[in-house]
Amino acid sequence: MLCVLAVACGERADTAGSGTKTKAAPATEPGESTSQRLPNIVLFSIDTLRADHLGAYGYNRPTSPNIDAFAKEAVLFERAISQAPTTAPAHMSLFTGLTPAVHRVSNLSEGKPFPLDPSIRTFTELLREAGYHTVGLHGGGNVDGSIGFDRGFDLYSPEYISFNWMAAHRSAVDLDVIRSWIEICKKRGRPLFMFLHHYVCHSPYLSAPESYRDRYLRGRSVEGLPVGVPDERKNPVLEMIDRQVAGQRKKLLRWNVFTTTHETFWQGVDLARPDHRDHVVALYDSGVSYSDALFHQVMEILRSAGVYDETLVILLSDHGEEFHEHGGREHRQLFVETLHVPLLIKFPAGGKVKPRKVKPVVSVMDAMPTLFDYLGLPIQMPVQGRSLMPVIRGGAPARPEVVSYPDRDFSQVRLESGNFVYTNWRSAEVGEWLFDMTEDPLERRNLAADRPDLLTEMQDAAVRRLREDHEFGERVRQAGPATPTIDPKVIEKLRALGYVQ
Ligand SMILES: [Zn+2]
Repeated sequence: MLCVLAVACGERADTAGSGTKTKAAPATEPGESTSQRLPNIVLFSIDTLRADHLGAYGYNRPTSPNIDAFAKEAVLFERAISQAPTTAPAHMSLFTGLTPAVHRVSNLSEGKPFPLDPSIRTFTELLREAGYHTVGLHGGGNVDGSIGFDRGFDLYSPEYISFNWMAAHRSAVDLDVIRSWIEICKKRGRPLFMFLHHYVCHSPYLSAPESYRDRYLRGRSVEGLPVGVPDERKNPVLEMIDRQVAGQRKKLLRWNVFTTTHETFWQGVDLARPDHRDHVVALYDSGVSYSDALFHQVMEILRSAGVYDETLVILLSDHGEEFHEHGGREHRQLFVETLHVPLLIKFPAGGKVKPRKVKPVVSVMDAMPTLFDYLGLPIQMPVQGRSLMPVIRGGAPARPEVVSYPDRDFSQVRLESGNFVYTNWRSAEVGEWLFDMTEDPLERRNLAADRPDLLTEMQDAAVRRLREDHEFGERVRQAGPATPTIDPKVIEKLRALGYVQ
């Protein structure tokens, strides 16, 4: 049912805002989107969220009751693969529809950034030109504006959705900010595109409130391993800071306590030990569970504002997380546990798109082209991602292969095509991997030596794709990388996440 607020927010505003205005083309399927109104859009990215740790994707622990309920109203892509196992390139593939080998954005590291080339445009820019008010509230670090993520946003701020251990205490403020932007949008008569992102699931897995950590650690805790940030109630340094310091300086000093935590968290952890792995996964699950609660809170804001039904909500992650499945930790390698992410799209009520599950493998960089197809908006920039609307309607994927790249190295690649996965990820002296996804979806048995003909076929496909991406990138990138300036606070956040020593 259309409510007054939704109509007010959804009016096309061809004359509002800055930048070139673009008239929308007719919807590809008249009636699927509302041709004269654009819906509000919430793009919710839960950083570092493995698909298989959500109930909707088959997890056996109750981490996600709210996302599971949301999934019943959404199109759920059972096998969505990210284009990178790291934050900046994965998110940039989402925002540009280009593979990392084309947009060439990599994680910030050691103060050496690889920002988006000025010649490449983002979907946010197109949405603003189409009349959207564009707001990004994010966790900073590798989605910082200096990398190019702020392009097209009216507001792009790391101040409100925090990944740190104070997140629990700040979420009420965050929610007020989200609420107020819905009202601002209403008053200005513009549809709203809101990007929300946080690092609650990211290591050192201590962001969830203590009650969440306690619940998941019960019976799985190993003595001596971390169970929380240096105790937020008993830590004498924090007590002193709380007593003697106020305002922004207090936040920064508390933050400095946290930045040591990532470095110390992994000391003493041996993920090859099942008991240690259980302990760490329990903490990770507490973050998943808290993320589920945060997601629910945002959905409740939409409901209380009367705009939930008419809002298009995309829930996804940039990459997964490894707990020693292939001998590693966190998210560096090119295997399924670091690349299989949730992707759910709830379309506005009253349209022709009904909730369902989609089985074929899809790319996360297809999400925004799908959105534009649904909205009937032209994509006035070169993209590699394809609309998934045909797949949602039950057809075959336009391109039944997905590609992923590691950070900064475009000679290594993972290609999933048909039932098979090939990767030349160099790990533990193994140069090539070949997996049969039908029989081995967790990528445990390397068939490279057993299936030479298939290996050659997949090698050829990977080489073709590498060449294709390289040539596409040459055409798209018209200028060299810009020289960015990095805010020292960004460096601090990267240190907290373990990217800067
Ligand atoms: Zn990430």
